Amino acid sequence: MQARHIRPGQGQAVELKTGQLLQIQTVKGKQVADFVAFTLGDTGEYLSTSATRATNATIVPQLGMTLYSNRRQPLFEIVEDTVGRHDMLFACCDPVRYEMLGAEPGHASCRAALTDALTDYEIGFDRIPSPINWFMNVGIQQRGELEIREPLADAGDYVVLRALKDVIAAVSACPQDMGPTNAFNPTALMIRVFRDAPLPDPPVISNGVPPPTRTGTASPATPPGRLHDTPEATVVRVE
Ligand SMILES: [Zn+2]
Repeated sequence: MQARHIRPGQGQAVELKTGQLLQIQTVKGKQVADFVAFTLGDTGEYLSTSATRATNATIVPQLGMTLYSNRRQPLFEIVEDTVGRHDMLFACCDPVRYEMLGAEPGHASCRAALTDALTDYEIGFDRIPSPINWFMNVGIQQRGELEIREPLADAGDYVVLRALKDVIAAVSACPQDMGPTNAFNPTALMIRVFRDAPLPDPPVISNGVPPPTRTGTASPATPPGRLHDTPEATVVRVE
């Protein structure tokens, strides 16, 4: 299989060259993917959720958005998104969080999984940045209270990011099973790296109307499955 399968509590790291595409996909749906990234060869520069929020003036990742580094340099563009609801406010789950929740010692966590995945790059536990949590569904109340809800992602839903710089990206399948983060039942993710062949225009849809996004946001809708139907988007073996 020309892809990487990530079980809950595990992480995977991949290197992306400028222009390459990274697809992050749920297998069974309702599963959060914690995501961090660093500049290849200069890990002092990393994907910054605060710079991304500030530069885009929003707290929710959206289709077409550029994701920025802590030096406010563009690292990724969100080029496809079949869900439309993600989070860039919450920290990774970590051992202390599970201890606070009363879990048995040794519960798997995104922070530990990402640390393990990045071992070869010598990025330790304390240098894991605040993540983008793909598919995490956070409701925001009137006074700023945050409510974690079950993800809107169904089986096979995905996002695709275009690298705007050579980067190391790491993804963990969140093992949170003590709340609605992953609908109380963490499941696997798939990640794939595609070459930098330009994508063609989206296929013409018979009735001339693109499919609606599930959230009804103003983002331009992109037909799901575009990558899979595109012969130019050759899959790169990443295992
Ligand atoms: Zn997690």
